Amino acid sequence: MAYSSYKNLIGGEWLPAKSGKTFLNLNPADHSDIVGEFPASGPEDVALAVAAAQKTFGPWRLFPAPKRAEILYRTGQLLQERKEQYARDMTREMGKVLAETRGDVQEAIDEAFFVAGEGRRLFGKTTPSELQNKFAMSMRMPVGVVGLITPWNFPMAIPSWKLFPALVSGNTCIIKPAEDTPLSTYNLVQTLMDAGLPPGVVNIVVGFGPDAGAPLVEHSGVRAISFTGSSEIGSLVAQRAAATFKPVSLEMGGKNAQIVLDDANLDLALDGALWGAFGTTGQRCTATSRILLQKGIAAEFTAKFVARVQKLTVGNGLQDGIEVGPQVNEQQIETSKKYVEIALTEGARLLTGGHPLTEGPYSKGTFFAPTVFAGVAPSMRIAREEVFGPVVSLIEFETFGQAIEIANSIDYGLSTALYTKDVNRAFTAIRDLEAGITYINAPTIGAEVHLPFGGVKHTGNGHREGSEAIDFFTTWKAVYIDYSDKLQRAQIDNAE
Ligand code: ADP
Repeated sequence: MAYSSYKNLIGGEWLPAKSGKTFLNLNPADHSDIVGEFPASGPEDVALAVAAAQKTFGPWRLFPAPKRAEILYRTGQLLQERKEQYARDMTREMGKVLAETRGDVQEAIDEAFFVAGEGRRLFGKTTPSELQNKFAMSMRMPVGVVGLITPWNFPMAIPSWKLFPALVSGNTCIIKPAEDTPLSTYNLVQTLMDAGLPPGVVNIVVGFGPDAGAPLVEHSGVRAISFTGSSEIGSLVAQRAAATFKPVSLEMGGKNAQIVLDDANLDLALDGALWGAFGTTGQRCTATSRILLQKGIAAEFTAKFVARVQKLTVGNGLQDGIEVGPQVNEQQIETSKKYVEIALTEGARLLTGGHPLTEGPYSKGTFFAPTVFAGVAPSMRIAREEVFGPVVSLIEFETFGQAIEIANSIDYGLSTALYTKDVNRAFTAIRDLEAGITYINAPTIGAEVHLPFGGVKHTGNGHREGSEAIDFFTTWKAVYIDYSDKLQRAQIDNAE
């Protein structure tokens, strides 16, 4: 079957990897459908991209921020026109169902319009000086050339969370998309260029993590790295970046809990659990992977939940009526299989699923049956480690205090949800849950772009995307203007 061949975007030119190596991007619902051929880049391609980004940094940083923002605004408008096509491309390369890929493009649109407003803000501060006839202020400056490393589960939304704030702040960028989903990054960057982004301001280098991601992290010309992916690789990225003192923003894994109290609206909690656990085939960093059930409702919730999970329609996300798409690749299937084995060995009870789907319509792709475990103890690995697949654990508890304790007992701290009608407990949970995000009566997934996004513990290293992303992509300059016409010594001349 004919397919397109894509190249790296460096300094506005489409260039093959220096090595000439390429790889194929396959549709995870049907491996006979080749989405495209992409360059398998290495350090020499990264070096070219860094040189191009360094060259354009000078003019781009001087281009007024409101003008930079207008390009982002136009990008948002163009994305609205292209939404359906880009959503289809994304389902083909990544698998999640069309309603969700439309949502992914929509998130990039929301981000474009939100960040575009920042072009006329980027506020600094003014403050009194301790000396007479002296003025003091702080201003935000761009960081320089920034490296952006993105995962495959939100192939357009996550690149937009990084590219747009980086650009409005005056940085030039090199983006290394996940090897499973480069096309959506091409679509996004093509739209930026069609909206008027000058050549060389954003450069794309496609390739595998160790070959193309690692050299970007290590390159001395790159001034900051923004990474979203696994905690394992995030740790590696932070260690490598430390050698050149690069700031690193890490957004990583989760093991997100939905707590259901006895007084909850059970149908609402069921809807939330189903969507939170199996939306994006469980492949979201905010996916619900633990459902904590208070004893009074546990049996009823479990029976109703399993019945609904068994009715989920798994299949090719491009087709109508499909609710759960494939897993993105064979490696993810292997991880799901591995955790099913671990859970069974630990003594958890498999209520449904637990195996790949390989027959009939599933034979050409990487599908896994929606899986539910009960009888899970908080100490089990299945209750503590990220699976990143359609596998969820039910954990029972007696008191509200125990639920908070179990929810907090893991290494991750991204998203949490509480279902209750008790306002006192809701506010207590908001205060006590160790997580970057807490939902009340809504599932663990569904972040909006204009709030802080990120987590605590092994989920992140203290930075936030969304509303706070500008903090990472700018650096502060303090400015003092002395109009006294004499030397004034701080801490000395005004000490009396
Ligand atoms: P996921 O499990 O979501 O694929 P990874 O952490 O493996 O998460 O990958 C996230 C991103 O990090 C991808 O773009 C991947 O290519 C990149 N990556 C993987 N290994 C490295 C590495 N050693 N250095 C830099 N980037 C890497």
